[in-house]
Amino acid sequence: MGIGLHPNAVWYTSSGALLGAVLAINTQISLPPGSGTSFNADMTTSDVVETVEASAALGLSPVIVSTAPTQVLAKTELTVGRGDTLLGLLQKNKIAAADAHAAVTALNEIFDPRDIRIGQKIVVSATTNSAAPDLDAIRIAVGPGHDIIALRSTTDTFSATTLKAQTNLETQAFTGVINSSLYEAAVDKGVPAPVLVDMIRLFSYDIDFQRDIRANDSFELMFERRITEDGLVVSNGEIEYASMTLRGKTFKIYAYEHTENHIDYYNEDGKGIRKALMRTPINGARLSSSFGRRKHPVLGYTKMHRGVDFAAPRGTPIYAAGDGVIEKRQRWSSFGNYIRIRHGDGFATAYAHMKGFAKGYKVGSRVKQGAVIGYVGTTGRSTGPHLHYEVLKNGGQVNPMKVRFPASKSLTGEELMAFQAVRKSTDVAWSNAFAERDVASLCDGNESRSVE
Ligand SMILES: [Zn+2]
Repeated sequence: MGIGLHPNAVWYTSSGALLGAVLAINTQISLPPGSGTSFNADMTTSDVVETVEASAALGLSPVIVSTAPTQVLAKTELTVGRGDTLLGLLQKNKIAAADAHAAVTALNEIFDPRDIRIGQKIVVSATTNSAAPDLDAIRIAVGPGHDIIALRSTTDTFSATTLKAQTNLETQAFTGVINSSLYEAAVDKGVPAPVLVDMIRLFSYDIDFQRDIRANDSFELMFERRITEDGLVVSNGEIEYASMTLRGKTFKIYAYEHTENHIDYYNEDGKGIRKALMRTPINGARLSSSFGRRKHPVLGYTKMHRGVDFAAPRGTPIYAAGDGVIEKRQRWSSFGNYIRIRHGDGFATAYAHMKGFAKGYKVGSRVKQGAVIGYVGTTGRSTGPHLHYEVLKNGGQVNPMKVRFPASKSLTGEELMAFQAVRKSTDVAWSNAFAERDVASLCDGNESRSVE
């Protein structure tokens, strides 16, 4: 669609009043956001939005502002299609090549134009008084509450700037009862998938997500998220607190920030939850753990079977259970694609039947705990996609679910005291999150009663 012809375009007529307003704010390089987001760009108050919009569309050039009063401004939204480049998209919409090129060149300082995605919206403001519109500004939303803008600064040049919405932190608290799997129960309650994957990973040291979970087990989860004033989620923060109650036994984990941006997790006594090896070295969110279809757990531990099987969809990522060195990585008879990692304290772990190995490793490579080393498959002697996981101690297989892994770090002294203070305030934040919710639900109840 052409800029000047778009039926839904917002049109402005330039006037002396507008010119005054433009001059009053002409030191600011700002545009109001499209999607109704309020931006904290030093200037935007709602009562001047229209003026600002016009000024931004006009650009900050007195040359343009002072053109004939017949001049009109158009703002239109373009959608990136398959095969579009930013430059091509602008030109396809009748923006002069020189303008399009200058604007894209300016944007390039803060944004790689190749990063535009199919379906992305690009808002273009142009001044039209003839067949060829003069480009004034381009705005691209690159993330929630995060826009980038190229704005005409003189008749010939453009400058680029970033606009970020003002954000607030909001505590998110979830609790739920598990009916089939933690993953389903948590997603059902609205827990964002990436946070849930983090939570599962944190519990993977203690919990076997395929066998330990039963109907009526439950979970708790609290984290902060950053949202714009309009409620757009900009980012989910780190987990602050989580618990899992399995057959009456509760595991709690608390975040503790040792130094800025260095967070680690501890149980309520200040004992580190990260252990040298993980019991569930696989993306637990993808395990097939429906109660009805699961094999009896005891069947996993016969004498013939020296490991634990995790049934999971083909392609599910498999993690290195601990830091170590890869000592075998090959096709190995009935094990199919097989990796063995040597860890400290006489421990090794082995992973079999993989569909394939993750790239970038070879025998002798160092791996970090949690690194993806391969993907679930059914190579070798295997009846369906699963990970066969073994823990070896001094060369012999041990039961991964029973073996005591080397103790994890415990906080002591002043650090333990500091942790306990954090834990207490986390507990208070947790109960407050639900106190507020309870009050809200009481109010709802009163209202419904008064209606009766
Ligand atoms: Zn097996």
